[in-house]
Amino acid sequence: MTVRAIVVGLGFAGSVLSRELAEAGFEVLALERRSQIAGNMYETVRANGVRVHQYGPHIFHANSGEVFDYLSQYSDFYPYTHRVLGRIQGKLVPIPFNFTSIDALFPKSEADDLEIRLTEAYPDRERVFVSELMNHNDPAIERLGKFIFENVFVNYTAKQWGIPASEVDVSVINRVPVVLSKDDRYFTDRIQQMPLNGYTPLFEKLLDHPGITLRLNTNAAERLSIDAASSRVYFDGEPFDGPVLWTGAIDELFRYSLGPLPYRSLNMVFEDLPIERYQKAAVVNYPNEEEFTRITEFKQMTRQVLPEDTTILKEYPLPYDPEKRMEAYYPIFSAENQTLYDEYRALGAMIPNLRFCGRLAEYRYYNMDAVVERALQVAKEVIRKYAKR
Ligand code: FAD
Ligand code: UDP
Repeated sequence: MTVRAIVVGLGFAGSVLSRELAEAGFEVLALERRSQIAGNMYETVRANGVRVHQYGPHIFHANSGEVFDYLSQYSDFYPYTHRVLGRIQGKLVPIPFNFTSIDALFPKSEADDLEIRLTEAYPDRERVFVSELMNHNDPAIERLGKFIFENVFVNYTAKQWGIPASEVDVSVINRVPVVLSKDDRYFTDRIQQMPLNGYTPLFEKLLDHPGITLRLNTNAAERLSIDAASSRVYFDGEPFDGPVLWTGAIDELFRYSLGPLPYRSLNMVFEDLPIERYQKAAVVNYPNEEEFTRITEFKQMTRQVLPEDTTILKEYPLPYDPEKRMEAYYPIFSAENQTLYDEYRALGAMIPNLRFCGRLAEYRYYNMDAVVERALQVAKEVIRKYAKR
């Protein structure tokens, strides 16, 4: 007998789950609140013809060949190595901070001396964390660490997260290391590729399966409810016993009954400009003076040739308010938030046919590749569970 499944949200988590379950013979009803698929990877074309990532710049990078091979079934890809500059003391220097950044910001003799000290202090390392430099017993390295922290991390982090950098989980800051060479790649992953025609066509293909019924403009929180007493999920008022795979915010499903989980949001401000090129790199970070954190010029990622037009995006961080029409972009790490999340998960664990997957549902700072990997794993588990019946 065909098993019906409900998938909520059509970013990578929900779209991969939908496809995998449909391939395994489930009849999938996929609900998405927005008027389009592809979650935060959604791309749109501006009036000037420039293709942009509506929810911020998305660069695919992965070490897992499995994830890349999986996605390659739904799109061709082109190699793209992401490079970022940051405006520090009025100069544009590579981020992650590297030897070229040192050369640009210090007098030559001091820069040469710092680079020799770093190479000697870390003979086997290509990248180190800024905290390691700040705590080094060589005072010159310690000073450099403090300089980098002050000029690259302190203000950017405070803007991005709305709290002092000292209160942000160190794993967040450690996403961006200090590079002990002139390597200026933002990511070091083995695979760095972009979908040839953009993310949206990839998602269209991923979701193109007769076993998947899509319902856009549908807030699943208004259609699904949890009855704790019977440990059942109700859909449109009727008990639903097939798998329910939730990839939206977990607190929303439980109607914020334990209080809202905090997220950071972004105000995305696009500007269309009648010029061929705006800046020297696809992304330029503005850690210090400006209110935005970074400017993305999409043409430099998408390789579009439009000699008279470009579009840029400025990202202004702000607190997320579930009452307002905002996107919950970033879960905020802290022991307190994790405890609240765990309490929501405990509520979820009472419902045997309910699973959570994705950045919002798992309240984790997942990149795209990690979300795809996770969705493949959850799909396997769900398929195995129902095959046993
Ligand atoms: P999402 O893509 O957020 O999808 C969730 C979907 O669920 C959304 O479409 C939402 O509308 C829907 N939904 C939520 N609630 C409901 C509801 N109640 N009813 C119906 N639908 C609902 N990762 C990288 O690997 N590389 C990058 O360069 C990169 N850049 C990023 C830049 C920014 C600004 C941000 C915020 C993230 C970036 N990421 C990047 C991370 C990437 O966006 C996530 O890994 C990815 O979006 C996670 O996919 P997901 O399906 O879990 O979530
Ligand atoms: N960060 C910073 N300065 C930079 C770039 C990053 O302080 O120029 C810090 C900041 O706290 C940010 C984190 O490093 O939130 C992770 O940066 P990443 O570029 O990975 O953020 P994302 O692309 O996920 O927004």
